[in-house]
Amino acid sequence: MNVELVKEYYVEAAHCAPECGVNGARQHGHSFRIEIVVAGPVESPYGWLIDFSEITGAFEPLRRQLDHSDLNKIPGLETPSFEGLAAWLDKGLRPALPMLKEVRVTAAGAGDFAPQELDEDLFRNLPRRLRFSFEAAQSLPHLPDGHPCRGLHGHTYHVEAGAMDLMRLWGHLRGLYEALDHRYLNEVAGIGAATSERLCAWIWDFLSRSIDDLNIVVVQETNSARCIYRGK
Ligand SMILES: [Zn+2]
Repeated sequence: MNVELVKEYYVEAAHCAPECGVNGARQHGHSFRIEIVVAGPVESPYGWLIDFSEITGAFEPLRRQLDHSDLNKIPGLETPSFEGLAAWLDKGLRPALPMLKEVRVTAAGAGDFAPQELDEDLFRNLPRRLRFSFEAAQSLPHLPDGHPCRGLHGHTYHVEAGAMDLMRLWGHLRGLYEALDHRYLNEVAGIGAATSERLCAWIWDFLSRSIDDLNIVVVQETNSARCIYRGK
C-alpha cells in the first residue's frame, strides 16, 4: 500500500517578487500556504507512512526563519517567489524527510478580486455580507523589540463588509481592493500602524464615504484571528 500524506502550514511573511503577478514588484506579503507532501509504502507497525509530528519537527526550524519575516532577507533564498520558496523548502526539508515528494507554496487568498456573498449567520450575530481577500505587507514598529509583529511581515487579509444594499456595496469594493492589494499598508495614507483594529476603522471610513447603511466590517489577518467592527 502506497500513500501520499499532505501536511499544511501557514507563514505570515512579506516579499517583493516580480514573479508574483502584475504588482508583485511592489512591497507586499501573504499568508503563505505551505503543503509538504511525503510519499511511500505503509510498512510501519503503527499503520502509518510517517508520524505527522515528524513532518512538523522537520519543518519547525524553517518555519522559525520564515514566519513574520521579509522573505527578501532570508539567507539562501535567492528568488523569494512562491516557486523559489518551494525549492528552498525542498532543499531544507529533504535531509530530515527522505520520503519528501513535493513542497507546494500558494497564497491563502483568492489571488484576485472575487467577492463572495455570505449568508446571515445568526449563531455569530453576523448579517448578510460580502467577502474578498487581498495580499499585503505591514509592520508595527511601535511594538517592543522581540515582538514578532514589529518587523516587516505580511498576511492574506480576508475582509467582510455588510450593508442593507449589498449590490450597491459591491460596486464600491473594487476601489477598496485596489487601495490595499499588493501594498505595504504602513504607506497607505491614513492607516499608519496597520493592526486589524485600525484597518477595520480605515475600511469603515473608506466605505462610509459612499455607503450610508454599512453595518459591519470584519478583518481576518490569519486563519485563526479576526476583528469585528460595527461602527462604534
Ligand atoms: Zn506575492
